[in-house]
Amino acid sequence: MGENGHNKSIVLPPTITVRELAESIEASPIEVIKTLMANGVMANINQQIDFDTAAIVAAEMGYDANLETQEAGSEDEVGEIPLWRKVIADEDPEELTYRPPIVTILGHVDHGKTTLLDAIRDTNVVEDEAGGITQHIGAYQVEHNERQITFLDTPGHAAFTAMRARGAQGADIVVLVVAADDGVMPQTREAIAHAKAAQIPIIVALNKIDKENADPERVNQQLAEIGLVPDEWDGDTIIVPLSAKRQEGLEDLLEAVLLVADNTDIRANPNGRVIGTVIEAEIDRSKGVMATLLIQNGTLNIGNIVVAGTAHGRLRAMFDHLGHQVQDAAPSAPVAVMGLNDVPVAGDLFQVVDSDKHARAITRERKNNLKSDAQREKSAVTLEQLFDQFQAGEVRELRLIIKADVQGSLEPIRSSLVDLDSGDISINVLHSGTGNIGKNDIMLAAASKAIVIGFNVEADSAAQRLAETEGISIRLYNIIYRLIEDIEMALKGMLDPETKESVLGHAEVRAIFRISRIGNVAGCYVLDGELRRNALVRVLRKDEVLFDGEISSLKHIQDDVTEVRTGFECGITLKGFNDFDTGDIIECYIVEEVPI
Ligand code: GDP
Repeated sequence: MGENGHNKSIVLPPTITVRELAESIEASPIEVIKTLMANGVMANINQQIDFDTAAIVAAEMGYDANLETQEAGSEDEVGEIPLWRKVIADEDPEELTYRPPIVTILGHVDHGKTTLLDAIRDTNVVEDEAGGITQHIGAYQVEHNERQITFLDTPGHAAFTAMRARGAQGADIVVLVVAADDGVMPQTREAIAHAKAAQIPIIVALNKIDKENADPERVNQQLAEIGLVPDEWDGDTIIVPLSAKRQEGLEDLLEAVLLVADNTDIRANPNGRVIGTVIEAEIDRSKGVMATLLIQNGTLNIGNIVVAGTAHGRLRAMFDHLGHQVQDAAPSAPVAVMGLNDVPVAGDLFQVVDSDKHARAITRERKNNLKSDAQREKSAVTLEQLFDQFQAGEVRELRLIIKADVQGSLEPIRSSLVDLDSGDISINVLHSGTGNIGKNDIMLAAASKAIVIGFNVEADSAAQRLAETEGISIRLYNIIYRLIEDIEMALKGMLDPETKESVLGHAEVRAIFRISRIGNVAGCYVLDGELRRNALVRVLRKDEVLFDGEISSLKHIQDDVTEVRTGFECGITLKGFNDFDTGDIIECYIVEEVPI
């Protein structure tokens, strides 16, 4: 299937339901759902999937999918920018010249993407006499044999998938990192699916060949099995063995990139219409909005009026990846720009427009569209909603991205979660790391339908906003058992979706009164929220849960009460628990029905 050019062609709309897709490719909906799952997408029969996803499924069933072209709108038709590739296709062929290839590095976690990006940067970024200090702007350029190559260096799939999600297809070539000691893993497959769907050539960086247990032959075999037949076996996938750690084989990789670039039509018109992709954007305290733009056609100049997603503004300053101020930027160059009025989202297209008025009109319209889109598209991921998606088939997987304050917290969280793995529903930790939850975590979650979990960390404001628009659930914890329990609930929720737990409040045990016939009464002080007579409680001592069950009596002074609020004292007895100690925390919670 797939690679040999014998596929049937099919035209698909930007979004399609699973059922419609099945009909168009003459497959059963079940087959489509299974293929989606194999690619990490959980969908039911009536769910809308986007074109990229549909194309992956279609490809696996022997169809080349093409995106239905929209009515070619006029330049003024706001909210509808043509893709940059279309812009280039519309340029006068005579004007098109070579531009540096844009490369993105994908691969399974820990296979060495970051190490490789750093190694290439360290050994190949040309620094001028002034010795510019490398800036992290989300991309950098290297020179090899006097030709330039642009690398996107946003970690993982984030930038790439975000771009694809917005139809921008930011890269020309994918370098797929596969660790020679570990071989093809789930995210390796995912990366291949992304690259194929975007019709971007793949070069395999067979990393870690320095390791004793490296087994390149086995990896070649695995790659061949999934359609990447090594060139040394007469296939057309270039496989470059290297060691990112020892900085060996890097030149061969750059050589391979240029070779593939020469066989791919990578051109642009430097004098043409200016369009490209936002790679990163953030608010800098002193500089205001800083956005990294990757120019894909035309030349960007200081003073240009730019529309990027729903942001716009006149460019006041531009910096290259070495931190130098520049006046203009040519195709394939990444530049950090100042002057936008708002933070665009990575993956947004940007373009230069002729007037401020035009820019405002476009962004206003887009904001309106976004609002209605947001309502439509919130199909995404919350723990409670997952159940539906899991119902669609036999494979059940909960995908998580975990951020914690310190490395030491990650391991216990990971291992406790793996213990929850019931065989029926598996837990897949796609990514874990230390530090606050950032936009990249959300993008990765959005692209892979994962939930983001934070332990003793926060989500930064850009991440919160993005999570909001993408409909991604962020869950923050500071007690491990709560985290584990929630996930356990979620797993159970997949079987029984109607309930959700909410904590009402906490009280601290300050004294214990022994009363014959009744047992021990805990004299408590309500720290936050409230205790309710008919709710459930847990008794917590350090991180341990000593009891989980019902209240048998709740009194304030002498009276039986239905609730006790923050700042008040109460006496409590529990059904089946007597062993209170001062300092114990009583957590009161209810289990509610969740409207579906
Ligand atoms: P990423 O998750 O794909 O970005 O992987 P990293 O770049 O963080 O690498 C994961 C681990 O593999 C780190 O401990 C690296 O030092 C190690 N590593 C990366 N490349 C090599 C290599 O070529 N050889 C060896 N032995 N270790 C490597």
